[in-house]
Amino acid sequence: MAIEKIIIVGGGTAGWMAAAALSRIKAGRAVDITLVESEQIGTVGVGEATIPPFLDFNKLLEVDEREMLAAVQGSFKLGIQFVNWGKLGDSYIHPFGNYGYQMEGISFHHIWHKYHQAGDKRPIQVFNMETMAAHFGRFARTEDYQREDLPPINYAYHIDAGRYARFLRSYAEKRGVVQKEGKVTSVAQDSESGFVTSITLDDGSVFEGDLFIDCSGFRGLLIEQTLKTGYEDWTHYLPCDRAVALPCMREDGSPPLPYTRATAHSAGWQWQVPLQHRNGNGHVYCSSYMGDDEALDILIKNMAGKPGADPNFLRFTTGRRKKFWNKNVVALGLSAGFMEPLESTSIHLINTGINKLIALLSLDGITQAQEDAFNRLTGKEYERIRDFLILHYNSTTRSDSEFWNHCRTMAVPDSLTEKVELFRLNGQIFREDDELFTETSWAAVMMGQGIAMGGHNAMADGLKEPATAKEMDAIEQSIRFVVQHMPSHSEYLSKYCPAVL
Ligand code: FAD
Repeated sequence: MAIEKIIIVGGGTAGWMAAAALSRIKAGRAVDITLVESEQIGTVGVGEATIPPFLDFNKLLEVDEREMLAAVQGSFKLGIQFVNWGKLGDSYIHPFGNYGYQMEGISFHHIWHKYHQAGDKRPIQVFNMETMAAHFGRFARTEDYQREDLPPINYAYHIDAGRYARFLRSYAEKRGVVQKEGKVTSVAQDSESGFVTSITLDDGSVFEGDLFIDCSGFRGLLIEQTLKTGYEDWTHYLPCDRAVALPCMREDGSPPLPYTRATAHSAGWQWQVPLQHRNGNGHVYCSSYMGDDEALDILIKNMAGKPGADPNFLRFTTGRRKKFWNKNVVALGLSAGFMEPLESTSIHLINTGINKLIALLSLDGITQAQEDAFNRLTGKEYERIRDFLILHYNSTTRSDSEFWNHCRTMAVPDSLTEKVELFRLNGQIFREDDELFTETSWAAVMMGQGIAMGGHNAMADGLKEPATAKEMDAIEQSIRFVVQHMPSHSEYLSKYCPAVL
């Protein structure tokens, strides 16, 4: 059956990202796209930190970065600072971009380890541009210094979630997407195939469709409530199940930092996402070890200013839908699954879900092969990200609370155990199944958490000297040079993309 009508249920970040991207298809083929959302139900209203592949979403939409950042009060993000994770008092940055670069096919952290063992005291962080710029609160884009001999700068954004949805809505509506306000009260299915055929809203209007995108948030209106797809619960690996979000103004006079901060507390952690006009804050916690009042209290005590709104309490179960594409329903965003926001991967998964959907979509109809490929690829993506998130919790040495005792001693997937063992042995990191996180990501978090490399790739010992030592020095010096010449992050924002109020 040909796809002539696409219905998107939900107008949060997932719904409007899908609508904006799919509206690009309309330019080439006649297809009706309708998005249904309910103001009464609302959106989760959080989700403000992104990761570098998000820049490609702007490219897909041909959206101007400056225009987008100005509209969403956005700022730049060079990585995530983790405070109190390995042990109390610790702090490390998981940067975007790499430590140094490969030499003769050998990853840089092996080469660094060789020198480190031989007495070179320089920390690996001085060989990473994003870490150094973040450390000094500075920012510039690679284009600004126009020098091919200097390392590039990798970045993502902090965005105001509500403003971003409005920005995308305007983009999608200009390209023919029709928005309909109303609450879906019933869903009709074909009696033989089980395919969803239409949705009915509370005003009685009926919307028929050939393909349905479920962006209805945690409830999974179509994928779960209608199709009963099932959910794989990962609470035993990722035990946090509550969050409270609360924005604030920066009353302490601090500038917007060019990175997200994730500070571990006694039963979870707190995020700080600096936008141009305010900070987004939230406390993610585990309800078995902490109550709502205590979580809110800790959050308020650790913010840069007084609360700028009422606290937004959220409940979730970490895990994933057993299928992301089921019959003619594709789940994107929170209806597909949620692994908690520690590494800002949810908007990324919406993005990659959209990319896969567009790549697989044939407007001539839906086949089992499309469904299977989408589910297999997405499942692998989720699992690799899950392992990376568990690493942060499990590799702690903290023993100051029952929560951390639990995390430190819990069973973890074999795939993660192997990854850590190989790193402890000789620093080897294999990226599997096109996984999102790079060698630098794994190395930064493992070392940051206190997992030491026991050795390095033996090939590193065979690199030519003094050429290699000179190259190491050149990397460090060029990073220092670039960072010294960067403006502060707030200066950059005020010149490049001042917020539209
Ligand atoms: P929602 O925002 O919940 O939207 C659901 C939509 O469905 C709404 O429009 C609602 O009205 C509509 N709807 C539901 N039922 C009906 C119905 N019956 N009829 C009509 N409409 C209906 N992601 C990141 O990438 N970075 C982060 O830093 C980050 N932080 C997060 C922090 C927390 C605590 C949480 C919970 C999530 C975070 N996320 C983050 C995830 C991110 O917020 C979501 O991926 C993103 O907002 C997408 O949400 P959504 O659109 O799937 O769902």
